[in-house]
Amino acid sequence: MSNFFDEVNRTFDEAAKFTEYPQGLLDQIRCCNGVYRFDFPIRRADGTIEVIHAWRAEHSHHKMPVKGGIRYSPEVYEEEVMALAALMTYKCAIVDVPFGGAKGGIRIEPKDYTVDELERITRRYTHELVKKGFIGPGIDVPAPDYGTGEREMAWIADTYQALVPGHLDAMGCVTGKPVTQGGVRGRREATGRGLFFALREACAHPDLMAPLGLATGLDGKRVIVQGLGNVGYHAAKFCREGGAVLVAIAEREGAIVSAKGLHEDEVFQHRKTTGSILDFPGAANLRDTAAALELECDVLLPAALEGVFTAENAPRIQAKIILEGANGPTTPEADPIFRQKGILVIPDIYCNAGGVTVSYFEWLKNLSHVRYGRMSKRHEQANELQMLRAIESATGKRFTDAERAELARGPDEVDLVNSGLEETMITAFHALLETKRSHPGIPDLRIAAFVNAIHKVARSYMELGIFP
Ligand code: GLU
Repeated sequence: MSNFFDEVNRTFDEAAKFTEYPQGLLDQIRCCNGVYRFDFPIRRADGTIEVIHAWRAEHSHHKMPVKGGIRYSPEVYEEEVMALAALMTYKCAIVDVPFGGAKGGIRIEPKDYTVDELERITRRYTHELVKKGFIGPGIDVPAPDYGTGEREMAWIADTYQALVPGHLDAMGCVTGKPVTQGGVRGRREATGRGLFFALREACAHPDLMAPLGLATGLDGKRVIVQGLGNVGYHAAKFCREGGAVLVAIAEREGAIVSAKGLHEDEVFQHRKTTGSILDFPGAANLRDTAAALELECDVLLPAALEGVFTAENAPRIQAKIILEGANGPTTPEADPIFRQKGILVIPDIYCNAGGVTVSYFEWLKNLSHVRYGRMSKRHEQANELQMLRAIESATGKRFTDAERAELARGPDEVDLVNSGLEETMITAFHALLETKRSHPGIPDLRIAAFVNAIHKVARSYMELGIFP
């Protein structure tokens, strides 16, 4: 049976046919440069000792540091971490984030551990990475992934600083930190916001929408979201605010369906109080959560784990667009089925890259030791006010105080972060379309995305002089 890493490499090989690099260079891009697998003990709350299994994979050192999240899940295995690290390499290349790809994993079900135990596990994991040189602002920079968040990142930063004292750039050893601990505003929402920008761009193209029988724009598009974690929640929120209708939300325990539309935050609060999304007022329950993916909709947004779409269920998918919030939700067997059905797949390595893009901004902030906008906000505001005064004296019009406040407002950190993210997602999308347009043989946007990534990584190896 093929594993996730083999699957990523199969897609890579398919894309590599559209390039002309020597096989040795392609082999170097494709392989996983390093994997550190380690076990360590922790003392549980009841006094027993348990051995924890953990990994950190560094897929490509063509740019340093390497970057990628850490996943806490009972399902974690070595080739999965390698595959996710590989996807990080391609993802960073596609959105011009100057990092190689990495990923970490700890094989635990976080829900089965107390907060104290999770802290001990996270700190010990960090300790092991420091010992082996698998973490550092110029080496390898983790971030949140499935099962981890700001809290874990704060523990990692604190442990790193304790073990490597006196380093000015130490805070850049991990991203996705709380804003009070060196994080950047907008990182929490970034992957979801990036997904929204990706969908908005795709929906703005009449050439992409017409074959699907869809009008342009997001308005009224029916969306099904799988997974109400950080990525799914924010993607759902921005899509709904952009005019889409959330017709179903699927979670582990089942799915809820409402043609009228759901509000992600009400569903989230309901799940928090009752422990389940089921029995949400006004919505129908669907206990078979996998069946929710097969309902009719315009946009299907998987935002949980890999391997969701297979040769078995792909023929029954009725969505017109698949927006891959998760990493690797579509297996290589499902891709040709989606192509044949005419489904537009917006691939993970492009559309969920908003997270790592804003991680890059956080890392830059940590290295520069200054909040975005601190130097320029008032200066820009003063320029804008001057412009308004010039307009007033030229036209005789008087702006109201409210208009003045709205029109002359220097950007805050979050404005700059979101602007950088929007620019990144739009530019990368047009690059994918351009690659697909200029190579008629390229069958879909995923292969176009891989081709773009291969070109960028190959070029960087060639610039290093390692390959001619
Ligand atoms: N875990 C996220 C991803 O898969 C973010 C990685 C990062 O910010 O470094 O893209």
